[in-house]
Amino acid sequence: MHTLTGTPASAGVAIGPLVVIRPAPVVAGGRIQPGQEAGEIARLETAMTEAGAELDLLAERVGAEHPAEAEIFAAHAMLAQDPALAEAAEECIRAGDDAVAAIRAAGEQFAAEYRAIGDELLAARATDILDVAGRIADRLTGSHAAAPTLDRPSIIAAADLTPSLTATLPRDRMLGIALAEGSATAHAAILARAYGIPAVVGIGGLLDVIEGAAGTLAGSGALVALDGASGEIVLEPDDATVARFERARAAAGAAMAQAVAEAVLPAVTRDGLEVTLLANIGGPGESARAVELGAHGVGLFRTEFLFLERGAPPSEEEQLAAYRAVVEAFAPYPVTIRLLDVGGDKPIPYLPIAPEANPFLGVRALRLAWDEPGLFLTQLRAAMRAAAGMPAGTVGVMAPMIADARDADLLLRLAARARDGLVAAGVAHGEIELGVMLEIPAAILVGDTYLPRLAFASIGTNDLLQYTVAVDRGNRSLARYQESLHPALLRLVRRAVETCDAAGASLSVCGEMGGDAVAALALVGLGVRKLSMASSSLAGVRRAIRAADTAALQEAARIALAGPTADDVRAGLVVLAARLAVGAPLDGAPLADRVDASLG
Ligand code: PEP
Ligand code: MG
Repeated sequence: MHTLTGTPASAGVAIGPLVVIRPAPVVAGGRIQPGQEAGEIARLETAMTEAGAELDLLAERVGAEHPAEAEIFAAHAMLAQDPALAEAAEECIRAGDDAVAAIRAAGEQFAAEYRAIGDELLAARATDILDVAGRIADRLTGSHAAAPTLDRPSIIAAADLTPSLTATLPRDRMLGIALAEGSATAHAAILARAYGIPAVVGIGGLLDVIEGAAGTLAGSGALVALDGASGEIVLEPDDATVARFERARAAAGAAMAQAVAEAVLPAVTRDGLEVTLLANIGGPGESARAVELGAHGVGLFRTEFLFLERGAPPSEEEQLAAYRAVVEAFAPYPVTIRLLDVGGDKPIPYLPIAPEANPFLGVRALRLAWDEPGLFLTQLRAAMRAAAGMPAGTVGVMAPMIADARDADLLLRLAARARDGLVAAGVAHGEIELGVMLEIPAAILVGDTYLPRLAFASIGTNDLLQYTVAVDRGNRSLARYQESLHPALLRLVRRAVETCDAAGASLSVCGEMGGDAVAALALVGLGVRKLSMASSSLAGVRRAIRAADTAALQEAARIALAGPTADDVRAGLVVLAARLAVGAPLDGAPLADRVDASLG
């Protein structure tokens, strides 16, 4: 028995026989003689066209069931015919490489550029480029015909899985996925989540264990147990371990079924106080699950995900299609579209943001609009067009990272200009509500100066915490400071509630904190009436609200504001939550356990 741990990538438990997928031997390519260049370039062009057509077909097939995931292959198809990739490969051919060596070198060069940015999300895109370059090379060598198959339901183990292989393998026979490499934001992980296949990625030593100590395992059908929520994977588990995973599988299935069954229950306290529960999503593909789990709208649509894995921004029409799909999926409930939040930890190479020493304090989010208003005008126009024919209040647009009235005015001016343009061109559109993210302390402290001119605001606790306590939200070694129950943050929440109430602006919380059942009690106690969260958190928060009453919420607010430290607030809230019998959110251990675990 060998136990390994990786990064949880897609929740669920799988137990089954192992199949190791090894990449087909790579044909590296070689050199050509002077005079052969034109022939090789022609071969390359044919292979790129064929690979593009093959990917278009794959997009069509996947799109029948999973339209959002099909976009990955549509993007790959575009990459396969990307003139910049062709140009880089042709340059290698002119330098003496044959077509195979040239496309591999060009793919490596593009992938290296992505990796050099040092961002996890973009590093994952390097896999996409290598996938496409490999597919073109396979066309050139004729090895594209030999794809792996599964003859029975199995757990797949591999160094990494390309998105196309993930989509090509028979889904009904993929019980689980274990990868030595990759991150939770890699496309294989995104597809696994969309298909509901449990997956663990970044499992250091996975292939060593399979090929070394347990050398007989490889492809032999040895038993594997995998938990996509905890990241645990056990090779050749003993009977007790199999029984433990079977219990976890039954519990996960039952919890999901219960969450779906409870989705119809209103999020209302024992004495009738109603809280609106909304979903945070990154694209249309996440709508169905959020609706199933009872989200009454979208509180945060992170549009930057539409801008990734491509060479240029999505057109107004593409954005309109994505926004419209989400609005229709959630109708009659409202959808809040957040304008592009790039920079910080989400750089996008084709956008003109110069390298910065402190990107989190740099040209991030709406700040980019001063120099690049066009990007934001396109988004606003697409959102206004998505609102056409919808009742007022259905579509909201909010600006991230505003600091004060000047930034809020920028949003208002951009929206007015976008509307004027649509009116002048006679394009059908509807009314949108305008709002801002409250994620910089200054924006809350001077909220009275601009909130009366806006319809709503949403507190982004993830950034509000990092800017309040000066702690980089992505720095693992500062985990002990990443504590959203910090009294300073809670006092800012209280101030935001008071300021929004006075201004007549509606307020929600859309940071991760809103999805923690225990923290949610404090937020509602402090006066927040709308919480937006990952879909998997909806059931736990709904239960917490239904277990509470006004007296409990008042106590939660008192604890939240009393401090003096996050530890004290947490301790008080955990006791309160235990009294209300509030369970853990579906996606993790109760807050107290997580903290205890981090203290060791
Ligand atoms: C936040 O900052 O809390 C937030 C919701 O936005 P993001 O996590 O996308 O920065
Ligand atoms: Mg933010």
